[in-house]
Amino acid sequence: MHQDSERRVVVVPAYTCPLVALAVAHCGLELRVCELLPDSLDMDPAHLSQLCDANTLAVIPTHLAGRIADVPTACRIAHAFDAWVIEDAAQALGATVEGRSVGLQGDVAFFSLAVGKGLTMFEGGVLFTAHDALRAPLHNAASTEAPARIGWELRRSVELLGYAALYRPAGLRLAYGRPLRRDLARHDWIAAAGDEFDLDIPLHRPGAWRQSVARRALMRLPGFLVQTAQGAARWRACLQNIAGLTCMGDAAGQGVWPVMLVLLPDQTVRDAVLNRLWGSGYGLSLPFVHTLPDYAYLRAVVPAAESDALPNARALAGRLLAIGNSPWVTDADRTVVCEVLKEALAAAVRG
Ligand SMILES: *Cc1c(COP(=O)(O)O)cnc(C)c1O
Repeated sequence: MHQDSERRVVVVPAYTCPLVALAVAHCGLELRVCELLPDSLDMDPAHLSQLCDANTLAVIPTHLAGRIADVPTACRIAHAFDAWVIEDAAQALGATVEGRSVGLQGDVAFFSLAVGKGLTMFEGGVLFTAHDALRAPLHNAASTEAPARIGWELRRSVELLGYAALYRPAGLRLAYGRPLRRDLARHDWIAAAGDEFDLDIPLHRPGAWRQSVARRALMRLPGFLVQTAQGAARWRACLQNIAGLTCMGDAAGQGVWPVMLVLLPDQTVRDAVLNRLWGSGYGLSLPFVHTLPDYAYLRAVVPAAESDALPNARALAGRLLAIGNSPWVTDADRTVVCEVLKEALAAAVRG
């Protein structure tokens, strides 16, 4: 899209996946990060309006962790500047607004099918648009930017086979548990959260076999969504009894539940819970450790932020916790996690 435009700036929420910042840099575009509303994943409309101008190419509202972002507000502001709205639905495959998939309120959208996002072909995703006129340009850009690369395809296919072979609780604990505990022992939360990415993203078109794997996975999506929605309901039943904790939900639409996002009163409580349970197989994690400007390794691609800037986004980054909601989570697991949350919150009240 930017090939046909003089515009150079892309605006993203300050708290989002570091890969988004790397993708903007990859395109030779300039990033601006937007403050969030208090206790929210949504961009602050007032700050978004300030950030947009005649040089704004796109704004990227993000359906983080399956929660539904406020796309209409982003559209209202971005479209007033003739900028595009790209819905980042990387973590929201299956989420709907007014009965239609997320991604159709904005101009362009994508789902990720990378490992860790739910249904997967190990790496890859889906780019789509509701505008007929945009489909051909997007198709062309995807073909040019992500050509077939046989070496990478072979590697991803082997990785996908390895992942499929390990795809059960014991296997994944083996594959992910040990490196996770090693990262935690080193207090390397950025590595533990999986937030460290190569600055150079290898782009290539998924081959026919992996595409067929993704299509078959799509057949399982409705059942998977029902199962994870039931898991989320069970989580909510025990989380809602815990005073001082907010379970993030949706103001509009029907989100999906790859994880439960929980907001704790402060970072001390949040970190106490993580120190107790991260690495113990209960599926606790952080969506992201920091806001984008706070990753040292992203300094070349993210504008610096003053220490008093982005207070809401930074507070959120310190207080947010993701709790695993895979079909393998049991009621006994939920009880353990909720007890630890209660204890950490009670300890905070006692001081
Ligand atoms: C993972 C992720 C991306 C990038 O998706 P890939 O398929 O890994 O390129 C973008 N945005 C968000 C919010 C993500 O979680």
